[in-house]
Amino acid sequence: MAIATLLPATTAFIQRAPRMLIGAEWVEAADGQTMPLHNPATGEQLCVVPRATVDDVDRAVLAARQAFDDSPWSRTRPRERQNLLWKLADLMQRDAELLAQLECLNNGKSAAVAQVMDVQLAIDFLRYMAGWATKIEGSSVEVSVPLMPDQQFHSFIRREAVGVVGAIVAWNFPLLLACWKLGPALATGCTVVLKPADETPLTALKLAELVQEAGYPDGVFNVVTGTGITAGAALTHNPRVDKLTFTGSTAVGKEIGKIAMDSMTRVTLELGGKSPTIVMADADLGSAAAGAASAIFFNQGQVCCAGSRLYVQRKHFDNVVADIAGIANAMKLGSGLDASVDMGPLISARQQERVWRYIEMGRDSGATIACGGERFGPGYFVKPTVIVDVDQQHSLVQEEIFGPVLVAIPFDDEADALRMANDSPYGLGASIWSNDLAAVHRMIPRIKSGSVWVNCHSALDPALPFGGYKMSGVGREMGYAAIEHYTELKSVLIKL
Ligand code: NAD
Repeated sequence: MAIATLLPATTAFIQRAPRMLIGAEWVEAADGQTMPLHNPATGEQLCVVPRATVDDVDRAVLAARQAFDDSPWSRTRPRERQNLLWKLADLMQRDAELLAQLECLNNGKSAAVAQVMDVQLAIDFLRYMAGWATKIEGSSVEVSVPLMPDQQFHSFIRREAVGVVGAIVAWNFPLLLACWKLGPALATGCTVVLKPADETPLTALKLAELVQEAGYPDGVFNVVTGTGITAGAALTHNPRVDKLTFTGSTAVGKEIGKIAMDSMTRVTLELGGKSPTIVMADADLGSAAAGAASAIFFNQGQVCCAGSRLYVQRKHFDNVVADIAGIANAMKLGSGLDASVDMGPLISARQQERVWRYIEMGRDSGATIACGGERFGPGYFVKPTVIVDVDQQHSLVQEEIFGPVLVAIPFDDEADALRMANDSPYGLGASIWSNDLAAVHRMIPRIKSGSVWVNCHSALDPALPFGGYKMSGVGREMGYAAIEHYTELKSVLIKL
C-alpha cells in the first residue's frame, strides 16, 4: 500500500481556512457565514470556506465588470493574453501535486490519477487556449448596400470578447471544469466570476492564487464560494453578467437557461448524460469489456459522459457482462491517497444515498445485480455495480444515476442498437466497439450525441468541441467552438 504523504503546502492551504477572491481582496462572506467541507473518504470535516451572500456575488460581478470595462486588462493585447495563460499553466504545472492532493481530499478521487488526468488536462487545455489568443480573427466583406448604390464602403466584421462571464460548475472535475470556462474567457479578454460547486471549492481557490501570481490584473478572475441556491442564483440573476456558462445537472441547467433567456444573457449549458457503450459482435471483446468497465467506473461513475448504458450484441452478452463483473469484483476501493486503490468514494453521503436508491429500485423491480450492489463506510463508498435483466424503459436505463452503476441490455442487430442508444433524453457521448469499418461509419451519423468514440470512451482533447445534443446541453466547450461562445460578432460599415 502506497499512501501519499500530504505536502506541507497542502496541509497549510487547508489549515488556513481559505477565503474568496473578490477584486484584489481575499475575503470572508459579508455576514461571516461559513460552510464545512468534508473528506469523502472518511466523512470527516476538512475545513470551512465562506458561504457567499448575494452582496458578495454582486461585489464580485462589479469587480469583474470594472476590470472588463475600464482597466489595463481591457487594453491587453492578444500576445499578452497568450503569455499570461502560459504563465498560469506553468504555475499549475509547478503546483500540480498540490492541486491533485486538494482535489483528492475535497472530491475523493485518486490523487495520482488527478495529477495525470484532471490537473494535466487542465494545464494542456489552458496552453491550447493560449494559442487561440493570437488567432482570433474577424473578416472583411465586400458589400453592396442596395439602398446606397452610388456609395463606396469599407466593411468588416469584428470578433469581440463577450464581457463578464458568470461561471458555475459541478463537483466531479472541479479544477478541470473551472479551466474549461477560464481558458476561453481569458484567451478572448473576458473577465470571470466563478462559483465552484458547494462541495469542492478548494482547487478553484488555489487557482485564484495562481491567477494573481501569474500577474492578471485585479478583478479579471473572482471566486465566490457558497451554495447554488444563494450564490449561484445571485450570479445567474445579476444584470451585469454578459454570459453564463454552467456545468451541472439538467434540472438546474434548464432553470438557468430560462433565466438567461429572460435577460438575453448569453448562455452555455453542459448538462447530464446517460451515454451508451455499444459492443458489436465483431469487436475485440477483451478490450471492449475493459473499455466498458473503465467507461463507467472511472471517477466512481461521476462522469457526465460515463458509459452508463451497455448494449452488447446478444450472442456475446453474457461473456462481456461476466468479464466486466470480473473487473469490477477485482477493484480495490479506498482512499484516493492510496495509489493502489482503483476506486474512491462518492462525493457525499447524499450522492451515496441517491446511487443506493437506484440499486434498491433495480432489486425491487426484479433486475439482477451481476456484481456489486453494496455500500459501506466510513466515507461514501458504493461497490462497482452491474445490473442486468432491465427493460429499456426502466428508470435505471433512462435516468442519470451518476455513480458506479452500469445497466446492460442485449441487442440483436445494428438497427436495434441504434434505436436503444438513441432512446434517451440525453445525448452527450456514445462509444461503438467494432472493427467493421462500414458498420461504424453507418452508425456514427445516426447517433444523436455530441461526441462519438470508436474503440475508446470519454477520450477528450482540447481541440475537439465537447457538449450535448438534447437534454445534455446547449453550446460546446473546447476547440474553436469555445472561442465562438466567448465572443460576439460586430459588423462595421464605413462609408468612404
Ligand atoms: P448541480 O446542478 O446540482 O450543481 C452544479 C452547480 O450549480 C453547483 O455549483 C451548484 O452550486 C450550482 N447550482 C445549484 N442550484 C443552482 C441554482 N438554483 N442556481 C444557480 N446555480 C445553482 O449538479 P451537480 O450535482 O453538482 O453535478 C452533477 C451534474 O453535472 C450531473 O448531471 C453531470 O452529468 C453534470 N456534468 C456535466 C458535464 C458536462 O460537461 N456536460 C460535466 C460535469 C458534470
